[in-house]
Amino acid sequence: MAIHEYSFLGKDFVKFEDAKISVMTHAFLYGTAVFEGIRAYWNPKKGQLNLLQARPHLERIMNSCKILRMEPYYSVDEMLNIIIELMKKNKPETDTYIRPSWFKSALRIGPSLVTKGADAEHDESFVVTSLDLGDYLDTQKGLSVEVTSWRRVSDNAIPPRAKVNGSYVNTALAKASSMLAGFDDSIFLTEEGYVSEGSAMNFFMIRGGKLITSLASDNILEGITRSFVARLAREELGLEVEFRQINRTELYLADEAFFAGTGAQIAPIGLIDNYVIGNGKAGSITLKLQEIHRSICQGENSKYADQLTPINYQNVLA
Ligand code: PMP
Repeated sequence: MAIHEYSFLGKDFVKFEDAKISVMTHAFLYGTAVFEGIRAYWNPKKGQLNLLQARPHLERIMNSCKILRMEPYYSVDEMLNIIIELMKKNKPETDTYIRPSWFKSALRIGPSLVTKGADAEHDESFVVTSLDLGDYLDTQKGLSVEVTSWRRVSDNAIPPRAKVNGSYVNTALAKASSMLAGFDDSIFLTEEGYVSEGSAMNFFMIRGGKLITSLASDNILEGITRSFVARLAREELGLEVEFRQINRTELYLADEAFFAGTGAQIAPIGLIDNYVIGNGKAGSITLKLQEIHRSICQGENSKYADQLTPINYQNVLA
């Protein structure tokens, strides 16, 4: 994992090794931070880096801040400019992962998100780091996943609609136990027993020629890739897309299945709880969606050029 030379912390660009916070930081003590993962794809032919769907990610971080009662001191446009400037400083020439985060930065004991009276303080702070990142999950082989015995956190516990750092303990527990049991990843059920999502990606399956994904009310993060994949399936492949509750045993009877997310991209699933899905490899619809998505990320599909923010920095002085 190659972490880039510069980060942004508070209100300044700093060297990554200087992007440090205290061990008493509220976010460290209580997980009170929200974040985004944004991908940027390097186009070697054009010598250009393309941020993928940066605005929806930054709009979502604003919503996550609202749920955590944070008052961000940068707008979506300002955050976007900081990210562009950061890329111009780091000048990656490879696919990149960018992680902006708002965190509770006060040095104080007590988990409340607000303080009262004369001491009332807004203690949000903004940080962005970036690193080289290729595939996070295998996008070729057909993953072997399990339905984890851990249940997805619910809207009335730690709302999954907000991308809260602390809720990733739920992800970490599931993913670790799946990996220790020899699987590549996990699928969460809700406490009610419906399919929710993968460890850090949304779930899709094909049954009877329809593309099906879980409801937002089944405790998923409302993924940006999820919406986009649904749009591509309708517009490019003419598929019917169903957003509905999914039972566990439907998973085993799926014709195709895949994960979708910024990190995961489109990652085919070949086995669920050791039931073979389709022929155990990437299905034909999954492969078509992968190809369309890949060409958009590479900036090769002008119809979807508005999904990208191009950044040029070759021959630009730092
Ligand atoms: N669910 C969870 C829990 C995630 O962490 C992610 C990754 N951000 C996703 C789904 C996919 O969301 P997106 O497509 O917006 O990256």
